[in-house]
Amino acid sequence: MLKQMENAGLTDLHFGLDPATGLKAIIAIHSTARGPAIGGCRFIHYAREQEAVTDALRLARGMSYKAALAGLPHGGGKAVIIRPEVEFDRVALMQAFGRMVDQLGGRYITAMDSGTEVSDMDAIETTTRFVSCTSASGDPSPHTALGIFEGIKAAVLHQLGKDNLAGLSVAIQGLGHVGHALAQRLHNAGAQLYVADIDPERTGRCVQEFNARAVDAEEIYDTGADIFSPCGLGATLNSDTIPRLNCRIVAGSANNQLATDQDGNRLRQRGILYAPDYVLNAGGLIHVAMHHAGHSPAERDDKIREIASTLTHLFEEADRTGQSVHHVADLHAESLLQAAKEAQIKRQRQEVQHA
Ligand code: NAD
Repeated sequence: MLKQMENAGLTDLHFGLDPATGLKAIIAIHSTARGPAIGGCRFIHYAREQEAVTDALRLARGMSYKAALAGLPHGGGKAVIIRPEVEFDRVALMQAFGRMVDQLGGRYITAMDSGTEVSDMDAIETTTRFVSCTSASGDPSPHTALGIFEGIKAAVLHQLGKDNLAGLSVAIQGLGHVGHALAQRLHNAGAQLYVADIDPERTGRCVQEFNARAVDAEEIYDTGADIFSPCGLGATLNSDTIPRLNCRIVAGSANNQLATDQDGNRLRQRGILYAPDYVLNAGGLIHVAMHHAGHSPAERDDKIREIASTLTHLFEEADRTGQSVHHVADLHAESLLQAAKEAQIKRQRQEVQHA
């Protein structure tokens, strides 16, 4: 287990068990060097407990990268609650999880993720204040969509030399919370939309509201649109789909869009500019973190708009060094975390000396 933690770069791993409510939970903390770790809590079925641990381990580092490149005073963490196979009291279980989070004294702030809802965060809030995404903070998706939209404009300026989206075409894969809000913004900015979702109702809505052209979910890679925007599931950019893309830019909200690291290089070799997912989709995290810290909506929106300048900086560095943008982003995140770690060690030494 310790070796696994070392490989995942974690500082600590916590297990919580509460037989009275059926709680079996894991909290993985990757870094607190920049501030309290923040990250979602999954609540899904796992065939084996080890799979739940692996999920928490593998996802915590990504949250540190995302928070660092978003310029937030947070590190990354991830929680997993194993969904009980027998009947359970959901509120009581979430409250027990809240107590577990509270015992960490603010080292970890929890949030929504697969399988958890705003009502769960409200239940958690009754036992800890280290929680975000409660009904007071609202749905993060529109803020994620704002960040994607601003990032797409930065990518268009960099790659196509155009300072607006009028007349450009965008293929959106997945029209859920983020995809639909993004489609609205792109339509208002004068872009032509191709849309696909496995749910035909969602596709139909975009056709009606935004004059979009509906495409079969399997054919969304073949539209020839200027921009491909993956807003559904992860790992849709792979050795099968990338050769089918005839776009100049890939920029969407889905997490872990590249099936493998090699796929980032494949995009580059095809002359396609890739906006790294965790940089581009940080708007929701910025919203929950800044709402939790008591910042105003205007301050939050300014921070979300900074995603565009961060991306431009990464694009320029990738051009200068001949590396793939996703690789440049990882290196940049790692160097920010390393600098924060060194500052943290220095602070700790000074505290010991003054004690
Ligand atoms: P959502 O569940 O509301 O929407 C996802 C949509 O994708 C659904 O409409 C679903 O039917 C569709 N879909 C699934 N498989 C598909 C396929 N093969 N082809 C086409 N459509 C498909 O989720 P969301 O909140 O809109 O998030 C979208 C993505 O962005 C997810 O990967 C999520 O992890 C990521 N993300 C979301 C946020 C946020 O604030 N909601 C923040 C960061 C990252």
